Amino acid sequence: MYHGVSLVQTKHGRMYRMKFSNEVTLYLAGFIALIGIITSIYLATIVKNQRIETAILQQNQNLSLQQLAQKDGELAAASTTISELHGELVAIKEDLEELADDYKDEQNRNEAFENQIRDLAGTLGDLDKLAKTDEELLAKYSKVYFLNENYIPTRLSQISEKYVLPGKKDQYFHAEVIGHLKDLLDAASKAKMDLKIVSAYRSFDEQVDIKGQFSQVYGTGANTFSADQGYSEHQLGTTVDLTTPEIGGAYNSFATTKEYQWLLDNAYRYGFILSYPEGNTFYIFEPWHWRFVGIDLARYLDRSGKDFYELDQRKINEYLLNFFE
Ligand SMILES: [Zn+2]
Repeated sequence: MYHGVSLVQTKHGRMYRMKFSNEVTLYLAGFIALIGIITSIYLATIVKNQRIETAILQQNQNLSLQQLAQKDGELAAASTTISELHGELVAIKEDLEELADDYKDEQNRNEAFENQIRDLAGTLGDLDKLAKTDEELLAKYSKVYFLNENYIPTRLSQISEKYVLPGKKDQYFHAEVIGHLKDLLDAASKAKMDLKIVSAYRSFDEQVDIKGQFSQVYGTGANTFSADQGYSEHQLGTTVDLTTPEIGGAYNSFATTKEYQWLLDNAYRYGFILSYPEGNTFYIFEPWHWRFVGIDLARYLDRSGKDFYELDQRKINEYLLNFFE
């Protein structure tokens, strides 16, 4: 048998070997124990670290949850506030709408009231106008109903001489409608019609004189020729007898002139009508005798083909309001 230590073979050789073997074992055990300690410490450290990390994580999680809960709370509070504000807004909007409605109602009431006032003022104005409008201006006269001998127009204006047949005295017309007479004669003149006035306003006394003259000339026939009916119309100041310089006083032949035809076609536009047209059943035909009845009524008569004296007096009086227009 061979052993390395047996090279120093002494009497103490065996003991020597034994001693060596014991030391190695001791070192090994120490080493293993050291490793065990180190490993334990290492493992313990890892576990501890893990615990700490877990704790930190837990803490962080808790914190986050807490924050989340807090945010939730805040959000809930904000949401409540928003819905409250929304509610208030809705209420305010409703109030405003009610106010707007009230305002509109009030405005409508005011407008209705204003309209009523205006209507009333208009009615009063019309009534006032009517009250001031002389009903005689549109009256139908007859042998039974004629103008009072004291009647005189509110105001008379002298007719410019250029419209009057030469040799005739000064002529007068109702001041408020003389403009219409001028319009008529100017339009005639423009259409190359030579129309002249023979007679316009005549007072009661003048009429009596004329009637006297006619009576002397024509005897009892004068009643139908001149006076009773046409007489009142001249006393109104709104009626004219027209002729042409050519035929002068030969009134009856006036119906054959182009001037007469022009009057038939155009006089109504200026408010004038023929009181006693050809074929009328109220009086003798007077082609020269034209009465102002207002443009509205004259137009109506022209349109309807009716004579003034055919109309009912109440129907005629509807035109009093606009007589002067
Ligand atoms: Zn006349």
